[in-house]
Amino acid sequence: MRAIVINKHGGPEVLEWVDIPKPKLQSHETLVQIKACSLNHLDIWVRLGLPNLRLKYPHILGSDISGVLVGSGEEVVVCPGINCGQCEACQKGRDNECEKYGILGETTNGGYSQYIAVDSNKVVKKPKNLSFVEAASYPLTFMTAWHMLVAKAKIKKDDWVLVLASGSGVGSAAVQISKLFDAKVIATASTQSKLDHAKSLGADEVINYKEEDFSCRVREITQKRGVDIVFENTGKATWGQSIKSVKKYGVIVTCGATSGYEALLDLRHVFFRQLSILGSTMGTFDEFKKITKYMSEGKLKPVVDRVFPLEQAREAHQYLEDRKQFGKVVLTM
Ligand SMILES: [Zn+2]
Repeated sequence: MRAIVINKHGGPEVLEWVDIPKPKLQSHETLVQIKACSLNHLDIWVRLGLPNLRLKYPHILGSDISGVLVGSGEEVVVCPGINCGQCEACQKGRDNECEKYGILGETTNGGYSQYIAVDSNKVVKKPKNLSFVEAASYPLTFMTAWHMLVAKAKIKKDDWVLVLASGSGVGSAAVQISKLFDAKVIATASTQSKLDHAKSLGADEVINYKEEDFSCRVREITQKRGVDIVFENTGKATWGQSIKSVKKYGVIVTCGATSGYEALLDLRHVFFRQLSILGSTMGTFDEFKKITKYMSEGKLKPVVDRVFPLEQAREAHQYLEDRKQFGKVVLTM
């Protein structure tokens, strides 16, 4: 089969377009002919190399996969989370707390190829109203954003939610999920077109963080109160302003640090204002099924920015690294 692989860490140039054997199936697995696979920032981190991550080369990136079951022809979406199914966390439905938790394309081969063998219990029917490209554009980002807002931050009606980097995959998911729960959204982005996009997804207020200190604007918008929830995914560049934007007893929930992970924190804000800082990663299979249902009802929508053919994975990576996108960058086979 044709695939994009990496044989070492590095820039986009380490992505190689090659011919390799089709994956061999284990008893609990099913073979998926991949139609589309979307990119995540995770792909870039894995390509560059992460501490404690040892890859078996050649390695195939890609966590978000839609395709067709070989044999039955059923159209499916694949859950990107891999868990053991046996441990206490798994038994209680908290799969992303599994000690053996992994992600397709990170801990195993992923979707930058024509075929993949996946756990038969981790595929769901593709919503009929979504194309393969759209169906490959929601799993990881929506699971991540859902778990952050619903499971961790306990979002509720009329909460003010500040979504940072609303042009990112998780950001655009967070805007929509917040609106699904009838919360009020302030979205930040770096360009007018991204701010317009955030508005079109339902954001009540938008702030260009390149032009103004977003924490000042947030305090104006919320009449000095601050927001109930800050949806963080940028880290170092925004952390100080995020702390100033959250209200007393408010929550900052974070899933990433695309601008750097060594953020400064004035602890006085944390204890005097009794803030909660919550970390979150991925989500559960149950959440994935819930999100898929909302997708099929049109209540949540994948946001696709641009599609590249698989063989142009290098260009697609460069495009994502340049942060030109609003929503997802997708590879098609
Ligand atoms: Zn487990």
